[in-house]
Amino acid sequence: MGHHALTKNQQLVLNCLKANECALTAYDILDMVREGGIRAPVQVYRALEFLVTTRVVHRIESMNAYVACAHEHGNEDTPHNNAVAFTICDDCGVVSEISVPAAERTIDELAEKSGFIPDRTVVELHGHCANCSGSMG
Ligand SMILES: [Zn+2]
Ligand SMILES: [Zn+2]
Repeated sequence: MGHHALTKNQQLVLNCLKANECALTAYDILDMVREGGIRAPVQVYRALEFLVTTRVVHRIESMNAYVACAHEHGNEDTPHNNAVAFTICDDCGVVSEISVPAAERTIDELAEKSGFIPDRTVVELHGHCANCSGSMG
């Protein structure tokens, strides 16, 4: 539902990311999709490029790695800038996506005051997840 028809390679890469809670680099993905018939890094990069453009997958800039989107980023009613934030556990590698409308507004306001027009906002929080830090509950 809502997905454009994906090519076989795009679907393979997306499935691979969806099956992992951790961010994966292109080479991590390549290792996992070889069985599906993808042999060359460029095939992975092309699939990723498409998936990132359509926002089905996000790039974690600070890790040069990728995660499957945990939300639907609608196209119609989203403003020009759709902020995405990630918490990244440096112990176990689990990446979680959080939407941050409040932070997005603040960032947009700050940008407006300086005349800057942001296309996208990415917030990446590195630290320790509840499991690893033992702060659960
Ligand atoms: Zn997302
Ligand atoms: Zn952790």
